[in-house]
Amino acid sequence: MATKNEYKDKRDFSKTPEPEGGKLEGNPQNPTFVIQKHDATNLHYDFRLEIDGTLKSWAVPKGPSTNPSVKRMAIPTEDHPLEYGNFEGTIPEGEYGGGTVMIWDKGTFKNLKHDKDGKEISLSKSYKMGTLEFSLEGEKLQGGYALVKMKSGNMKGNWLLIKMDDDDADARRKPTSTQNKSVVSGRTMNEIAKEDKS
Ligand code: MN
Repeated sequence: MATKNEYKDKRDFSKTPEPEGGKLEGNPQNPTFVIQKHDATNLHYDFRLEIDGTLKSWAVPKGPSTNPSVKRMAIPTEDHPLEYGNFEGTIPEGEYGGGTVMIWDKGTFKNLKHDKDGKEISLSKSYKMGTLEFSLEGEKLQGGYALVKMKSGNMKGNWLLIKMDDDDADARRKPTSTQNKSVVSGRTMNEIAKEDKS
């Protein structure tokens, strides 16, 4: 019996260069994260965390901040296969998510979520509870972040991405404007769009 796979259902892999996925296995001891800058209908940053062998995903319109007093809206999107963490290129116009994708940051992360007795709460449980706390070890972003699901009000179902107030917090840094090249290829969005035209 075919299982529902929202990621595959939304895409035609004869037309998009995006990976079909399903081959890579995760590393729960050392999970990965990726942030992809995506110049689709509306420019946004796709924030993805490896949880249970898949990339849990949120679209963050304004991108991540390093200022702990800033809360960034994070709209949940479909799970992406782990292979997506290596995807940089251009999705053809007219296809789902058409536009250029840059690997803006990537690395590994550590779960910071503990119960009151100091015992770790698993990432999958934290995800289901709607409160993820983790520390990023990326090239651009480091340190603690929280993703918190809103459970009431008119933003119900959306999440907020918030920098924790730790040594890596910096209210003056504006990484989304000052660090705008790919961490894997060193290219700008324009260079990716020109070179990976499909
Ligand atoms: Mn996107």
